[in-house]
Amino acid sequence: MRRPVNSHWNGQFSCFDLVARLDECRHTVIEIGDLEIGGDDFVVMAGPCAVESERQLLATAHAVAASGARVLRGGAYKPRSSPYAFQGLGLEGLKILAKARAETGLAIVTEVMCPEDVPQVAEYSDIMQVGARSMENYALLQALGPCGRPVLLKRGMCSTLEDLLRSAQVIATHGNADIILCERGIRTFETATRNTFDIAAVPVLKTVSHLPVIVDPSHAAGIRMLVPPLARAAVAIGADGLIVEVHPSPDQAWSDGKQSLTFQQFDDMMRDLDPYLALREPKYPGKLELVAARGGH
Ligand code: PEP
Ligand code: MN
Repeated sequence: MRRPVNSHWNGQFSCFDLVARLDECRHTVIEIGDLEIGGDDFVVMAGPCAVESERQLLATAHAVAASGARVLRGGAYKPRSSPYAFQGLGLEGLKILAKARAETGLAIVTEVMCPEDVPQVAEYSDIMQVGARSMENYALLQALGPCGRPVLLKRGMCSTLEDLLRSAQVIATHGNADIILCERGIRTFETATRNTFDIAAVPVLKTVSHLPVIVDPSHAAGIRMLVPPLARAAVAIGADGLIVEVHPSPDQAWSDGKQSLTFQQFDDMMRDLDPYLALREPKYPGKLELVAARGGH
């Protein structure tokens, strides 16, 4: 018999039946080549906010791969709040990302902003990123159903967890259940940070949904020095991975330089995560408990 895991949230979330956890043992593990997201590995995605040039992206790809990242991020289509800001290299950026994958073996995650671009982005990318500003773009969510690639769904900056799961359910009802949820900070009255990192979102989502959950400490913080401590918090709270902005020279970045790490800072952050990663709990505690209970009685 299926049983809800947490009666407190039952009803609020279980209506999203394709993405809600209705069964204690269910965990979605997304496989991309030999990479597993939502499995035992803690998967780090890293790279610049935007693809600016081949040189910038390839240098970053080699650096983050050497430090232990498994996925390369980089926007080719950028949802900028200002119409005067750099909007991304588009198709040229996608081709540069594909070249970086060929050179490093890293999987690629990049943002798709509109339904018309889905086939093109799916041709070059391993994971389709839906940005915070697009979380409620239902035409886009629907178009991601048949795209054949996993989706990284970022929480909207003014969205509740219920809103996030509703959007995930839209993608799932259109045929794609390979969805990674991402907490990237929300708008609050606080102005010291770009957004407010809702740390409780991670264990709530892990409890009410069977989907993998990752954290974006870069957009949550908006400030470089806060990225490593928020990344450590993400490991400790049970996230399945991180997406982090890294740039060869952050102060010259065309977007989000203030929150981007240098190669050295990223490497230091990765090393500092090791002791926290060693403390991670077994991935399938529900399953293990059941096995133990059966063996013991
Ligand atoms: C990004 O990943 O560069 C980005 C625009 O993030 P968000 O959609 O979370 O603001
Ligand atoms: Mn960014």
